[in-house]
Amino acid sequence: MPANKRILVLPGDGIGPEVMRETERVMDWLAKKRSFSYQVSRGLVGGAAYDAKGVSITDETVADAMASDAVLFGSVGGPKWDAVPRQHRPEAGLLRLRKDLDLFANLRPAIVFDSMVGSSTLKPEVIKGLDLMIIRELTSGLYFGEPRGELKKHDGTRYCIDTQYYTQPEVERVARVGFELAQKRGNKLHSVEKANVMETGVFWRSLVTALHKKDYPTVELRHMYADACAMELVRNPKQFDVIVTDNLFGDLLSDCAAMLTGSIGMLPSASLGIADSSGRRRALYEPVHGSAPDIAGKSLANPIAQILSMSMMLRYSFDDQASADLVDGAIQNVLSKGVRTGDIMTEGARKVSTVEMGSAILAELDKLG
Ligand code: NAD
Repeated sequence: MPANKRILVLPGDGIGPEVMRETERVMDWLAKKRSFSYQVSRGLVGGAAYDAKGVSITDETVADAMASDAVLFGSVGGPKWDAVPRQHRPEAGLLRLRKDLDLFANLRPAIVFDSMVGSSTLKPEVIKGLDLMIIRELTSGLYFGEPRGELKKHDGTRYCIDTQYYTQPEVERVARVGFELAQKRGNKLHSVEKANVMETGVFWRSLVTALHKKDYPTVELRHMYADACAMELVRNPKQFDVIVTDNLFGDLLSDCAAMLTGSIGMLPSASLGIADSSGRRRALYEPVHGSAPDIAGKSLANPIAQILSMSMMLRYSFDDQASADLVDGAIQNVLSKGVRTGDIMTEGARKVSTVEMGSAILAELDKLG
C-alpha cells in the first residue's frame, strides 16, 4: 500500500468517540503488524463542534477533509442540541461534508455473519451466507430536486411539491460505480427504478442500458422495479449481488436490506465521490447507526459497525483487500465464539463492553495475523 495515507478522524457525539477509540486501536494494530502507513488528523463535528466553535463543522475541518484520502466519521446529534438553530444542528455538519466532497454514491453492504443468522427475523435458510451491496445515489433526485415546497392555488387550496430530478451525468456516474463494484464481486448488477410509472425511471433505465452495452457488456445486468425489489429482498435476498438505485428508493431499500442482518450496531457504510485524474476518490466512511444518546458514555455500544466502516476504507480507498479481509475475519471469529455487546446478546453468549469487544477483536487479529 502507498505510504502516508491521510485519514481525517471525526468521532462526533454520543457513542461516536467510544466506538472510534476501538477502531483506532485496530488501526494501530494494522500499522504495527501490517505496515499500514497512515497519518491521522482529528477534528470536531456535530454537537461537539458546536459546543467548541459555535458551528457544526468549521471551514478548516472541511478543508482538512478535502485534503484527506478518507474521512472516518462517527456519529452526530443528541437531545442536548435539539434547540440549536437549524443551520447549526449537528446533522448540518455531516450534510455539508457530503455536499462539499460531492459524495454521490452511498454503499451499504448487508452481510450476515454465520454466527448472527439467529438475529434476523427471516428464516436462516433465506439469509445464511447473505452478502449484498446497495448503492444509493446520494446527492440528487427527489431529496434535492427543485421546485419543492408548499404553495397555494388561486382558490386558496394548499398543495406541496417535491421534484424527482436527474441529469445524465448523475445517473451515469453512479451506474459506473455499480458496474465497477459488480466486476470486483459477483459480476451481477440489478438496476432499480420505477420505469413503469415514472419518466425519470425510463430515463434511468435507458442510460444504464446504454452504459452497459458500451462499457460493461460482460457484467450481468438486470432491471427491476423498486416495489418488486423490496419484495424480492425479503423473499430471496441471495439473488442479489450489487443493487444500484436512486436516492429515494435507495433510502428505503437499504434500510430494508440492513434489517435482514439483525442489528444496527453491525452496519457500516461508505460514501464515495468522483475520482480525480490519479484515480483517487473522495470518500467518507461511517456506521449506519446514530449517536445512541441512550447508551452513550456507558461502554455499552457495539463498535463493530465503526470497525467495519474502517475495513471498507481499507477496501475502497486504499485497495488493501488483505487487511480488510483480516479485520472482517477477526470480527467473524469473535462473534462465532459468542462474544456479544448488549445489542446483539443471545442466550449463552458472553456479554462484553465496548472496550472488551475491541480487545476481543485485537486478540483475534493477533491469532490470525
Ligand atoms: P440511533 O442509531 O442513534 O439509535 C437507535 C437505537 O439503536 C438506540 O436504542 C441505540 O441505543 C441503538 N444503537 C445504535 N447504535 C448502536 C451501537 N453501535 N451499539 C448498540 N446499540 C446501538 O438512532 P436514533 O436514536 O434515532 O438517533 C439518536 C441521535 O443520532 C439523533 O440525534 C439522530 O439525529 C442522530 N443520528 C445521527 C446519524 C449520523 O450521525 N449519521 C444517523 C442517525 C441518527
